[in-house]
Amino acid sequence: MNKHLRTILLFVGALVLVGALLAMFNTSKPNMIDVATLASKVQDDQVTSVTVEGTKMTVEFKDNTKAVVMKEPNDSFSGLLSNYGVDAAKARAVKTDIKEATGAAYWAGVIIPNVLPIVLLFVLMWIIFRQIQGQNSKAMSFGQSTARELQKGGPDRVTFADVAGAKEAKVELMEIVEFLKQPDKFKAVGAKIPKGVLLMGAPGIGKTLLARAVAGEAEVPFVHISGSEFVEMFVGVGASRVRDLFAKAKKQKPCIIFIDEIDAVGRQRGSGLGGSHDEREQTLNQILVEMDGFEPNLGVIVIAATNRPDVLDPALLRPGRFDRRVVLDMPDINDREAILNVHAKNKPLAKDVNIRRLAERTPGFSGADLANLMNEAAISTARANEKEIAMHTLFDSIEKVMLGPERKSHLMNAEEKKKTAIHELGHAIVAHLQPHSDPVQKISVISRGHAAGYTIKMPTEDRAMHTREEYLEDIATMLGGYAAEEIYFGQTTTGPSSDMKEVTKLARKMVTQWGMSETLGPRVYGEQEDMIFLGREIHENRNYSEKIAELIDTEVNGIINRALNTARDIIKTHRENIDRVVDILLEKETLEREAFYEAVGIPPANPGNVLKG
Ligand code: ADP
Ligand code: ZN
Repeated sequence: MNKHLRTILLFVGALVLVGALLAMFNTSKPNMIDVATLASKVQDDQVTSVTVEGTKMTVEFKDNTKAVVMKEPNDSFSGLLSNYGVDAAKARAVKTDIKEATGAAYWAGVIIPNVLPIVLLFVLMWIIFRQIQGQNSKAMSFGQSTARELQKGGPDRVTFADVAGAKEAKVELMEIVEFLKQPDKFKAVGAKIPKGVLLMGAPGIGKTLLARAVAGEAEVPFVHISGSEFVEMFVGVGASRVRDLFAKAKKQKPCIIFIDEIDAVGRQRGSGLGGSHDEREQTLNQILVEMDGFEPNLGVIVIAATNRPDVLDPALLRPGRFDRRVVLDMPDINDREAILNVHAKNKPLAKDVNIRRLAERTPGFSGADLANLMNEAAISTARANEKEIAMHTLFDSIEKVMLGPERKSHLMNAEEKKKTAIHELGHAIVAHLQPHSDPVQKISVISRGHAAGYTIKMPTEDRAMHTREEYLEDIATMLGGYAAEEIYFGQTTTGPSSDMKEVTKLARKMVTQWGMSETLGPRVYGEQEDMIFLGREIHENRNYSEKIAELIDTEVNGIINRALNTARDIIKTHRENIDRVVDILLEKETLEREAFYEAVGIPPANPGNVLKG
């Protein structure tokens, strides 16, 4: 649309310019007179000579002045004079000189006014035509891959130095960098260079970043596409996109092809549901064909990323395909510190900022979350017109990233606010008074995202394993909100519904997945298989009887009921302590760990959670 407008404006501009030029030509002509005047001058014997050049007659007068007279191409000078009734003798007295119209002048006279507009018209038509065609050809280019390329050494080159933590992954990928840099070294000893590397890890953990860093370190181009881009509405598009992608890559070898979300096409064949099933299969087959078709040591290495390695088709993992696999773990506290430091570069931090404490407060954060946290803090700082990022801004950003932005506009009336406070304190006190729970970090009655209020408890260290006791206590803590509402108001609200969902999920997992029920023993019940379209429950592979199903329900209910009673007991016994905190919480809206400990007036039951100093 815009483009068309520009073309038309350009065209109009050109016309105006030509018009102006012509006008200039005209005005620059010396002393124009018309034929009638010429005739009368000849009649009066004032003309010495006339030079005829095409349609132009240059007249010289007796007083040595000159003038120009235009005539029609077919009129002759003498004919004109006789038409105007000039005496033949007088006409003959004028010296007449007839010249061939000279090339340039003549043609300019003919071409500019007559041909130029037509030419311009054609040019305009051609431009418009080409644009329409361009759009058509875009519509016809489904089959071409939508891959984007980063050239080697481009301005956004990423190296391993930009990837914090992930040491093991870097060591493994260093090998790939060497393959790309010095293929001959490996060829010389008969080694076959791997064709594919599979990066596995949760979203935002830095898979794309690492793949780019490999390309950056090896200084080769980086061609990337997302698996979901292969899957289109039209069958066959995916496969031809794969062909196009690999063709593009081969042209600039050595290079890296990065396929993000490969699980979108690489799911186990034969287990798909829905219409795009055939399409996925064809696309996957084409990827396999292309990879098998590589001559060894071609210098193109495919790096694919997924967060669902469990659903991948085994064919992808066969030797000669993605036979290198790199697992990326959630960053631990040291990694988090390093990642925060990477993203703190180029950001002015206030003196009180302690990156280590931020790392302590962010267990479970991925690299992307941490990057986001730093960025949110920078944005808040700029919006507050401050020059340096302060520690409290960073702390605020943690919650922003975890729970969404504060909803100050969501005004609660006094009663709602009180209910929220009691609910959150229910969670907090139960966590505070159980021997295996993580310390309460913060309680707030400010809405964030979907939550009316929130309580944050954080482990003091990163742990990969959890015991049955810890989970039982977690469930009690999650039910603390419900129990408190029940005890204080004799009824509950819709507030705890998401708590209950979590509780049910966790209790069920304890029984069916982790063998934490004594009655049912160490056995897995049901093979979980996540489906994209169907809920897990529907597609759970039931490998147990109806009787066991009933038992599972009984066990799950038992766990939940026992935990609820634990929560009720704690709240009833310590009601006074809760009462003491409620007013402070309502006034301040947010209580940090220290303030909560002070207000509640009893030390935490978990000795590891006692504040020092
Ligand atoms: P994935 O591909 O695993 O979903 P990305 O590679 O897209 O994740 O990571 C998103 C962003 O998170 C990166 O652009 C980077 O800013 C940040 N990030 C993730 N991991 C790290 C890390 N180890 N070091 C530094 N930044 C990281
Ligand atoms: Zn709750």
